[in-house]
Amino acid sequence: FTASMLEPYCDGHGHPTDNSGISFVPPELLNQAAPLLDELGFQLHFHAIGDRAVRECLDAVEHAIARNGRNDHRHHIAHLQVVHPDDVPRFRELGVAANMQSLWAALEPQMVELTLPFLGSPRDAWQYPFGDLLRSGAVLAAGSDWSVSTPNPLAAIHVAVNRVSAPGEKEGEYPPFLPEQAIDLATSLTAYTAGSAYVNHLDETGTIAVGKLADFALLDRDPFAGPAEEIGATRVLQTFVEGERVHAAGDA
Ligand SMILES: [Zn+2]
Repeated sequence: FTASMLEPYCDGHGHPTDNSGISFVPPELLNQAAPLLDELGFQLHFHAIGDRAVRECLDAVEHAIARNGRNDHRHHIAHLQVVHPDDVPRFRELGVAANMQSLWAALEPQMVELTLPFLGSPRDAWQYPFGDLLRSGAVLAAGSDWSVSTPNPLAAIHVAVNRVSAPGEKEGEYPPFLPEQAIDLATSLTAYTAGSAYVNHLDETGTIAVGKLADFALLDRDPFAGPAEEIGATRVLQTFVEGERVHAAGDA
């Protein structure tokens, strides 16, 4: 009940309550602070869980653009748990990157027992709308939100593609969660590599190309070659940073 929502939470039995959650930063303050931070050259990195939170973050960037014009700060919003459909196209319009933590876009006990009954229809279906964001033309970036979540991007990519938890992360058997919001493997991998590099202004990495830093991981399989249901079983054999091996499977 801490996510800030446009409409009150349900009581779990189909009735509304008088609780709409909290805005961690009041919107009036956010709309004052965002243009000032933007003007000073700061990148705005929001974590927004409810549909009101997402809207207030987008509004704040809109205020910044109105005052300062557009720039290359690459502001982004993480979590994106509940996004009102009216706000989906605003990511592209405002140049705000959608920063996905796709590991959570699956049915599991926390979603089924603690979330869906308290959101109610239709907004229970507005969760993690990565497919809609992609189709709207938004820039997709991705991250883990570690340490509250696994840092393993392959487990999260598994969910982005399949909308079910990866093998080994599963608690019970559930059908895909809002499968129309699934995104393909290439898009998901791009978000977790080039997209993350983009929002971090790391333009010298994120893709493998002549002239870029040799930052890459060597996997135990080609995830494009196998069935999508096995993406999450992919393991990293070696990791290189600027051409130097920093991890090898079996290292202590
Ligand atoms: Zn967070």
